[in-house]
Amino acid sequence: MKIEDNIGTVDYFGEHRKVFMDTDGAKEGDYVYAQGGVLIRTVPEKEALETLEFWKERFFELKKVDARLSKVHDSQTSNAILAILQKVNLKRALTKEDMSALYKVTKPEELKLIYETANSTRQKENDNACCVHGILEFSNHCRNDCSYCGIRKSSSIKRYRMTVDEIIKNAEYAVKELGFKALVLQSGEDTWYDEKKLVEIVRRIRKMGVLIFISIGARSKELYRKVYEAGARAVLLRFETSNREIFENLRPGTSFEERIDLIKYVKSLGYVVATGFIVGLPGETDNDLINNILLTKSLGADMHSFGPLIPAEGTPLEDERLPDKQKVLKTIAISRFADREAKILVTTALETLDRKTRKEGLLAGANSIMINVTPPEYRELYIIYPNRADKDKDIKENIKQTTDLLYSIGRAPTDIGL
Ligand code: SAH
Repeated sequence: MKIEDNIGTVDYFGEHRKVFMDTDGAKEGDYVYAQGGVLIRTVPEKEALETLEFWKERFFELKKVDARLSKVHDSQTSNAILAILQKVNLKRALTKEDMSALYKVTKPEELKLIYETANSTRQKENDNACCVHGILEFSNHCRNDCSYCGIRKSSSIKRYRMTVDEIIKNAEYAVKELGFKALVLQSGEDTWYDEKKLVEIVRRIRKMGVLIFISIGARSKELYRKVYEAGARAVLLRFETSNREIFENLRPGTSFEERIDLIKYVKSLGYVVATGFIVGLPGETDNDLINNILLTKSLGADMHSFGPLIPAEGTPLEDERLPDKQKVLKTIAISRFADREAKILVTTALETLDRKTRKEGLLAGANSIMINVTPPEYRELYIIYPNRADKDKDIKENIKQTTDLLYSIGRAPTDIGL
């Protein structure tokens, strides 16, 4: 690694990546781990050489597989769709009308061409790296009453809260035993975790050398600032929908403007920002989805996070229909066209639609994935939506299935395992 003005340059098998120097004491020539553009830990030489040895051949093999799967094949497609995809290839911005035309596509061969073009764009701009973050759901208490969410305040579910020490213990297991380099700490909007508790949690986990994401909803700006100072470097906070009317209907007592303002504020503090929306909310149109994609981009999202609505029992939306899988895959592809270099997540909600969708999403432009590391006794109570794909999965088994899937499609999950 080389350093200039707080920005380091990491050499990874000849590829150079810029990172924010967030660790005291890292020097030129050190071996380091970086996550989301943030340096999180120096690595002793022996461990680093072992890791590099493991990746050396695999890295180039995986790239070959990825390049092969990222080819775009000829298919029978209307000239209008071809013209839109040609714009993508020329790196020109799509108009809302273009995006709307893509949402209207239903022919399998045209869908295939859209997904292949998105996958090829992902490969050209981002290569084959794939983030695999752990997510720890530490409390299902929530002061809000969002109509879509199974842990809303008025839901009569059994509630739990992990103590500070329990959170630390589980984070330690995820980092030291399972090898995660990035961890999302998620909960309902639970003010039992005040500034003091959150700062302590973040400080202690940061020492483990891991990128900490917090996903705790609308808390005060002051709290987000203190938690940043304690060492959290990323925030997952969705705006849920760009349609104000739908927002205000589904999130009583909360304001769209305030949520957007908070996302902008955390971005301005220097947090890596993951934001996005739910696909398939009642009353939503393709135009809303297009606005959602454009809003995600305009907020400067480093990571796009969206997934289908999974109607949750006991909520006002329990009888809603699941959105069409192709709609979600198209949303991934169009997000990739709109924001070529971003990370785009395949979320657990998408996997809940059916088991194949994780792979399909990754081949339609996505390049990030999360693995649940919540202990099973709590995971079964964190029911924001039912039949969560990861509900019964053993964590180690889930990591293996995920890395096997990524290897099979030529992706390098360089931030997990080993
Ligand atoms: N309390 C935090 C974390 C919320 S849970 C916050 O407010 O940010 C994480 C996400 O799950 C939510 O942002 C929402 O987009 C999604 N979600 C909630 N209920 C859902 C459902 N029934 N189907 C799909 N996604 C849902």
